[in-house]
Amino acid sequence: GSADVECDVLVLGGGPGGYSAAFRAADLGLKVVLVERYATLGGVCLNVGCIPSKALLHVAAVMDEVSHMADLGVEFGKPVLNIDKLRGHKEKVIGKLTGGLSAMAKMRKVTVLRGYGSFAGANHLEVEETSGAAQQKTGKKQVVAFKKAIIAAGSQAVRLPFMPEDPRVVDSTGALALTQVPKKMLIVGGGIIGLEMGTVYSTLGARLDVVEMMDGLMQGADRDLVKVWDKMNKHRFDNVMLKTKTVGAQATPQGIKVQFEGLDGTKSEGVYDLVLQAVGRTPNGKKISAEKAGIAVTDRGFINVDVQMRTNVPNIFAIGDIVGQPMLAHKAVHEGHVAAEVIAGELQGNPELASSAFDARVIPSVAYTDPEVAWVGLTEDQAKAQGVKVKKGLFPWTASGRAIANGRDEGYTKLLFDEETHRIVGGGIVGTHAGDMIGEIVLAIEMGADAVDIGKTIHPHPTLGESIGMAAEIAHGSCTDVP
Ligand code: FAD
Repeated sequence: GSADVECDVLVLGGGPGGYSAAFRAADLGLKVVLVERYATLGGVCLNVGCIPSKALLHVAAVMDEVSHMADLGVEFGKPVLNIDKLRGHKEKVIGKLTGGLSAMAKMRKVTVLRGYGSFAGANHLEVEETSGAAQQKTGKKQVVAFKKAIIAAGSQAVRLPFMPEDPRVVDSTGALALTQVPKKMLIVGGGIIGLEMGTVYSTLGARLDVVEMMDGLMQGADRDLVKVWDKMNKHRFDNVMLKTKTVGAQATPQGIKVQFEGLDGTKSEGVYDLVLQAVGRTPNGKKISAEKAGIAVTDRGFINVDVQMRTNVPNIFAIGDIVGQPMLAHKAVHEGHVAAEVIAGELQGNPELASSAFDARVIPSVAYTDPEVAWVGLTEDQAKAQGVKVKKGLFPWTASGRAIANGRDEGYTKLLFDEETHRIVGGGIVGTHAGDMIGEIVLAIEMGADAVDIGKTIHPHPTLGESIGMAAEIAHGSCTDVP
């Protein structure tokens, strides 16, 4: 049929995956249309994810730090919370970043269409204009004709079916809205998102309970590291319920009443002023009429792709949360670049670009809690399960001059090396600034470094980063002195 707009590349979704793909494609000389139902670009990450959570976590970390300063010889008064101002700070941070994105889109001449996109065929997308805070459809429709498309429609929070519709039951978006600090808060799901939001609310004054089906919080991270986190965060929780399911909930005038059932059959109940559901995210694959373009979507709503991010339909690509785990912004960005490069290569007959592929060896994860926990590659348990024999270097921060000077020597840096190849296969850090340090371990894995490479790399003294060099020396057996 006839189209209102024509382009080389249509990008569906303006999150980290979508805007990265759109910008790279435009930089490579393609005509790009970016469709986003929200008024701002940035997707979950900038609007209701990574960035607002870190704006609040920064404030919480400063508050926690200050509360320990009396031991170091300086006493501050009791913090006085102005929740409207704090929310305003968070909104300002979001505004700065999303405003920056929209300026960058303009600069690159990327056409941003605000509306809800649904496929009408393998070369057409229908966009129904949206407006206002609730993304109401205005009824105005446009058809975009494209040569190639990149689906970056992301994911949304999973909702437990039995949770009552009530303002006291929220997902991460509701928790980030920060309308109140409850006395007693339940976090359903002990993963990164739940624990980050729990950290914020607990520092602001809430008492926490957490319920998790598995046998430990922060699944995926090395247990040695989580042990330290558990110890340092005990004070936030009244009740840590592991191997426990949340099975029911009712709204009552006294609070949200929630029922739990242990995997051993024990039943219990609690009443909460706020319940945060953080039990995972589900991809948006089933909401974009993918079938009209012939795109295969899995039962769970994921879209499978190859290493070039191509779906089963040759001119249609997909990236980010919608293609699978790990659902992380930095993964989405790299996938977006690959898709844009492959497309530009194919449209422009550039074989080098056309052969671009996603070939990351590893993708790092970070919990921006206090202390932070960051990890990449194999954990010790995973190495064992996969039959990879590893040599480990575990460096305690009680031997780090900088950590001691900071008054924060609870951390550990742990590196794992393959006994056969000697190459580094995994690493993790628990401690302040762990997230900012993990990149070095990622680089070491990508470059196939061994313990000597890392141990002989001169790290500045006194820094927390030195702990990475020291852990390598410990694994290599060459560590004779600790600073
Ligand atoms: P999204 O960011 O989900 O963007 C998809 C976009 O597509 C959305 O803007 C949506 O409105 C739009 N869209 C969807 N369907 C349509 C349609 N049919 N028409 C028009 N538009 C549509 N990751 C990290 O790496 N680090 C973190 O610290 C971190 N913290 C997080 C904290 C929280 C509370 C949450 C919820 C997530 C966090 N994440 C973090 C995960 C991160 O936000 C996601 O991995 C990332 O946003 C995925 O990017 P994406 O481009 O795939 O999709």
